[in-house]
Amino acid sequence: GATIGIFGGGQLGRFLAVAAAKLGFRTAVYSSKEDSPAFQVASQHWCASYTDEVALADFAQNCDVITFEFENVPAAALQIAALRTPVWPRARAAAMTQDRIAEKRFLTALGLDTAPYVVVETDADLVAAAAFLAQHGRGILKIAREGYDGKGQARVSSEAELRDAFADFGAACVLEGMVDFALEISVIAVRGADGAVSAYDCPENRHRDGILHQSIVPAACPPAQQVAAQEIAARIAAALDYRGTLGVEFFVMPGGEHVLVNEIAPRVHNSGHWTMEACVISQFENHIRAVVGWPIGSVERHSDAVMTNLLGSDVLEWQDILNRDAGASLHLYGKSEIKDGRKLGHVTQLSPVEKQP
Ligand code: ATP
Ligand code: MG
Ligand code: MG
Repeated sequence: GATIGIFGGGQLGRFLAVAAAKLGFRTAVYSSKEDSPAFQVASQHWCASYTDEVALADFAQNCDVITFEFENVPAAALQIAALRTPVWPRARAAAMTQDRIAEKRFLTALGLDTAPYVVVETDADLVAAAAFLAQHGRGILKIAREGYDGKGQARVSSEAELRDAFADFGAACVLEGMVDFALEISVIAVRGADGAVSAYDCPENRHRDGILHQSIVPAACPPAQQVAAQEIAARIAAALDYRGTLGVEFFVMPGGEHVLVNEIAPRVHNSGHWTMEACVISQFENHIRAVVGWPIGSVERHSDAVMTNLLGSDVLEWQDILNRDAGASLHLYGKSEIKDGRKLGHVTQLSPVEKQP
């Protein structure tokens, strides 16, 4: 059978490998870390650096199609692979989303609304950034590259705090004005080889210290805003000539139909984990189907769901959760080290679909 290559060895890669196995594929996972959760379930594992051109070429030669589970795979590595084997989504989608400055510019060029922002690349940019901050009162300085799970972010409300945070990061940043949103939702969309886009129902996302804690479907958000968000995600996917599952995070503004794009994840997304239990075809299976050019499966939801991440020492409670709720669907990622805020597992709990009033 065919072999699907996956760059990245985290829990997302692990779920992709399981979904690929369900469809009869072999998987080859490429990761720079020896203890990668996805290695435990893949058919083959390649532990090598993303700058090792020989290993990259070898890996690509070995795979019939390649995808990735995290957007910070160096774009150069994806390009080397793409010379030999089709890579979906395109390297361009990773390159754009691994840099918040490029991502904001992409969104602005598409005419989509985001939080207000200014780019802070040099000390000279701090003058305009301080004026921007004075105008907005509170802001979040985000490092342009490599930030995730709220890492590389600082909340600032004075010029002094801004300067300290920028000096501390010592790298290009984006300063965003603090948005007073009503709630956060995301769109988990799948774009197939034919260009048609399907979107799951939007989960409502609740964070703890900037880290996703719970995703809840249905979201407490008017259907019009969910549809608006789904349409935006479809436009983003089309603009990227995308193939696969895509996550787009949104801020829902109070009243009206206004939504702001927070960020794009060109991959399966944590806020879509509930699709494994609450939908006939999960985000992972649909991603695999898309990258191999198979028909996209139904994104219909047969249950309401609450997905709770087990962050850091939360994971120690897994037995209590199973004792309390026989219907709780537990996932443990096989990570050995418990660190504060680290995603070590998650639990999905279903309930019958609530009747619309
Ligand atoms: P991840 O990639 O893990 O989702 P991240 O580190 O890229 O996270 P963001 O999504 O940018 O971080 O921000 C994390 C959370 O912080 C958001 O989901 C939101 O709750 C809050 N946040 C971020 N930017 C803003 C903003 N401009 N105004 C208000 N809240 C914000
Ligand atoms: Mg992010
Ligand atoms: Mg985010």
